[in-house]
Amino acid sequence: MSSEDIKQRRQCRCCNRMYDYAVSGSYSTRFICEECMKIPEPIRRVLISFNKRLTEIETKLKKA
Ligand SMILES: [Zn+2]
Repeated sequence: MSSEDIKQRRQCRCCNRMYDYAVSGSYSTRFICEECMKIPEPIRRVLISFNKRLTEIETKLKKA
């Protein structure tokens, strides 16, 4: 398995979108995609916490 490919492909913690990390000229970070990096930080933090809760609920529903 090519670990290099997996490292570059990431899921945004804010919007759940898959994005390419470490693209030159991109503002994306290890956890946040470029689009979400444009959102003001306090708002982004709220979205991340909502997304986290949604993910938790989804996981619980899948187990049920
Ligand atoms: Zn995003």
